[in-house]
Amino acid sequence: MPALNDILTERLKHAENKGLSRKLVASSLESGPFITREGRRYIQFSGNDYLALRAHPAVIEAAKHATDEGGGSGASRLVTGNHAYYGPLESGLADYKKTESALVFGSGYLANLGTIAALVQEGDLILADKLAHACMLDGARLSGATLKRYAHNDTTHLSRLLEENRSNYRHCLILTESVFSMDGDRAPLREIAQAAQRHDAWLLIDDAHGIGFGMECPDAIWSGTLSKALGSYGGYVAGSQILIDYLTSHARSLIFSTGLPPATIAAATAALAVLAQEPGRAERALRHARRLSVELGLPEAESPIVPIILGTPEAALDASHRLAEAGLWASAIRPPTVPPGTARLRITCTAAHEDTHIDQLIHALRPICKP
Ligand SMILES: *Cc1c(COP(=O)(O)O)cnc(C)c1O
Repeated sequence: MPALNDILTERLKHAENKGLSRKLVASSLESGPFITREGRRYIQFSGNDYLALRAHPAVIEAAKHATDEGGGSGASRLVTGNHAYYGPLESGLADYKKTESALVFGSGYLANLGTIAALVQEGDLILADKLAHACMLDGARLSGATLKRYAHNDTTHLSRLLEENRSNYRHCLILTESVFSMDGDRAPLREIAQAAQRHDAWLLIDDAHGIGFGMECPDAIWSGTLSKALGSYGGYVAGSQILIDYLTSHARSLIFSTGLPPATIAAATAALAVLAQEPGRAERALRHARRLSVELGLPEAESPIVPIILGTPEAALDASHRLAEAGLWASAIRPPTVPPGTARLRITCTAAHEDTHIDQLIHALRPICKP
């Protein structure tokens, strides 16, 4: 396909010139906050394993044990893939989110995609936070509903959009994250829920980065992932029993995709149990992030995520290289993952970091934050 290859080469060059090319680098998985890339070992600050549960002995043990039943689930959940490991995880997730029920999907991406597209359609309205995750926006597009964006965490703007538009549409769905993935700040959930209630709108909150950090909101629909703080893989939706029954027969990303492997589900269940027994893990990650942000003169962190906004893709890549020279790993985050002009280092602190790791990071980041 010579013509195709020529066109793709041209597009790749274009991205490269803008500092936006991406490549996959083999990375080792280690326990603790370490990573080996291209033969070099670093202390890493880029993963989403906030509670250090990914390689927890109880999680590994549960996954190994479940693997005795086989590698995969063999079919979609509605056919024969709904193995016995699903039940305890779904009831655990529902308890954790204080909802009647929960439903596990193949990933967080698939959970949002399938749920949004199943709930609304053409003639309905979606109001999404400007920084809502790409998979919520993809779900919104797939649904056929009209999508409007409100300024980030701006409930005044949200209320105005509701006042101006709500009556022109049949149903309205509001989309936000609980803790924002690239900025680490928290959504004003109570105010958003009040606006939703006033205007007869539904609210879907993506809790992908909020697990362990006590994000609450009565009457909301929750989505989330098993692959970040829970250290495994997969996604879920939590809400009323009726909602879960409806999604079980209407969410296409659930219906037309194979169930997750037993090991994946068992690992997430074990991680959820450790999370309940050891709340200190979340506190420790948060304490590191607070100290880091305060000592660097940044707004105090509200989650383990601390963004260091640098502007251009080149500035973010340069900062990432400088940290690497000091033996610290933080990947550069560039558009389209973040808006143009806000390329950054997205630092994540975890329960596995020691105070000395944070000290080293602060030392290396000082000249980058105050050039
Ligand atoms: C990572 C992420 C997802 C996707 O979850 P996966 O399980 O990785 O597919 C969804 N929403 C947000 C906010 C995320 O950060």
